[in-house]
Amino acid sequence: MSELSPVLTIDGPSGAGKGTVSRIVARHLGWHYLDSGALYRAVGVAASWANLDISDAAALVRCTFDTHVEFVESASRGMRVMLNGVDATDELRLETTGAVASAIAAIPEVRAALKERQRAFRRPPGLVADGRDMGTVIFPDAPYKVFLTASAEERAERRHKQLKEKGVSVIFSDLLREIMARDARDAQRAVAPLKPAEDAVLVDTTGMGIDQVVACVLELLPTAAD
Ligand code: C5P
Repeated sequence: MSELSPVLTIDGPSGAGKGTVSRIVARHLGWHYLDSGALYRAVGVAASWANLDISDAAALVRCTFDTHVEFVESASRGMRVMLNGVDATDELRLETTGAVASAIAAIPEVRAALKERQRAFRRPPGLVADGRDMGTVIFPDAPYKVFLTASAEERAERRHKQLKEKGVSVIFSDLLREIMARDARDAQRAVAPLKPAEDAVLVDTTGMGIDQVVACVLELLPTAAD
């Protein structure tokens, strides 16, 4: 029964708007939502809590198996991410955590260890899955696939604005450099590199507002979106 649930995969590089768009679309459709990046970030945070050496692949794989990740909806604070029962949501969103997650995500055994956990999110009435390899590796049979992109400059600008709104001061050129480095690492890794699935619809969101992108994605789901 669960394998019959439809999946909409939304892949793309950091800062293309996947998270925001996926959440809005999932809410609109009443479908479940998988933030796969949060799983890689969770392993990064758990590894740093355990003082693990980021180059010790075997320890990171053990850490992946030992880390229980739970997404808990809080009425006042939105979705919280719990690591072995401890709220790690704020640490999860840090730029440094994203960079560690991207290094860890290049380890094939870590990706393999997270595969079934991601597939378990596929439940009725449907799933919106956000990540880098949702349409290529995790849900290759998904009936709906989108690949969101935007220029690196625009993605850095969006991130800069978000951080400023949160009161975090960062230098734009540092952000741009970090985004480009992360793109290169994600696209060049040997296992599950960031690339559009052959049957994905490409949406370049440069210059587009969130509402426009959401509308564009919902157009792919004519019956469900009505
Ligand atoms: O999407 P987010 O920025 O939270 O992802 C953090 C990192 O996790 C990415 O830079 C990427 O290296 C990795 N990731 C991945 N595959 C996914 C989701 C995230 O490799 N499906």
